[in-house]
Amino acid sequence: MSDILNLIPSWQILLAAGVFGALWGSFANVVIVRWPREMSVVKPASHCFSCKTPVKFYDNIPVLSYIILRGKCRHCGAPFSFRYAAVELCMGLLSVGVAQVTLVGSSDPLLGLAAYFIWFFFVWALVTVAMIDLEHYLIPDVIVLPGIVVGLSANIFVLRNGMWEYVVATVVAYAAIRLLFIDGYRLLTGRAGMGEGDAKLLAMFGAFLGYEGVLFALFAGALQGTIVGVVMILVRRKDGDLNEPVFEEEVDEDGEPLEPDERFGKARVPFGPFLALGALEYIFVGEHFLRAYAIALGHFMYDLQNMF
Ligand SMILES: [Zn+2]
Repeated sequence: MSDILNLIPSWQILLAAGVFGALWGSFANVVIVRWPREMSVVKPASHCFSCKTPVKFYDNIPVLSYIILRGKCRHCGAPFSFRYAAVELCMGLLSVGVAQVTLVGSSDPLLGLAAYFIWFFFVWALVTVAMIDLEHYLIPDVIVLPGIVVGLSANIFVLRNGMWEYVVATVVAYAAIRLLFIDGYRLLTGRAGMGEGDAKLLAMFGAFLGYEGVLFALFAGALQGTIVGVVMILVRRKDGDLNEPVFEEEVDEDGEPLEPDERFGKARVPFGPFLALGALEYIFVGEHFLRAYAIALGHFMYDLQNMF
């Protein structure tokens, strides 16, 4: 089996990974649309939301069908959201990236294949969670909790990275976010600084990436989230919305203001997509980034010592 895998040219591996990723991107779309609305992800088959005509298999090819049909239903011409094709394309490209890192030129192709499936699962979960959080301001337990189990099992039993680092990173990540950004923050300010879902998501990062990855994703995510938040405020100001509060008062069905806890769930910018982005950056560039940072820090400390 190992020998056979070694004989496959890398372009074929990457092409297969791209197709595999796009197909799972197609399934991610189903989960993103249906799960938050409490619909089955299996039945019924994909259909047009406008005319209800089931989408034929030859019109359901990831990315390509969107281009061929120019983003419209073949029967009634109702437009399909570009988001479907974007998620499929994104998953395809991420899958190629994961295959490049794990499979191409791997000295142990079987282990490489196992690593590919583990990291692709993680990447799939990140994109799916980010898209759901972006639209519904919630992070589904149904993805994150099994994700923690998969991440820990993979690191301990398949990748043989030892047991404690990942278990400790998972538990500490969750406990730290709860104590500092949820319960502690609420004690000081009367509202939670982060959601419960964010804490579980970071626990999943701990299970897959270890403590270094959790810290990287948290800081990279917070930094990018802050930049986007500031840009949004500036854009609104430019549009002349200066008098309008950036965070509107949330009300329930009876027009009563929501409790701070409930309100947090609808903060204008969800944090989950930025955390997911931070985790992706860690997988693909984090190691190089941290190494460069360590070297820069080393130079700095050296210069500092020579100064005195
Ligand atoms: Zn239609």
